[in-house]
Amino acid sequence: MDCLFCKIVEGTIPSTKVYEDEYVYAFKDIQPQAPVHLLVIPKKHIASLNEAEPGDAELLGRVTLAAQRVAKEAGLGDSGYRVLTNVGKDSGQVVFHIHFHVLGGEKLGALNA
Ligand code: C5P
Repeated sequence: MDCLFCKIVEGTIPSTKVYEDEYVYAFKDIQPQAPVHLLVIPKKHIASLNEAEPGDAELLGRVTLAAQRVAKEAGLGDSGYRVLTNVGKDSGQVVFHIHFHVLGGEKLGALNA
């Protein structure tokens, strides 16, 4: 499958890893939109939240807790941060491998700015 984030998980496309376990991979966004901008993804290919199934519930819980972990490790635990996933064309989703943006390190603007 020709998926950019699957290739990042495999290591054939480089990334700056901040966390990895059996199920989850997290790395620095190459075009940061905030002082801290990380991406947290399941290693399993799921195109977007639209394609997630009930059987992915535990996996998505792991991804969510990994987002909490990398945010805390980046020093955002007290100041707060935003976790979001774009779904489909109206959201501006560019990479169709589900990913959770972790944004923080400054006062963030309105969600729909
Ligand atoms: O949610 P969306 O699909 O728009 O976000 C994709 C994100 O993946 C972008 O923030 C982009 O900077 C990031 N990206 C990356 N490394 C790549 C390609 C894209 O961090 N090699």
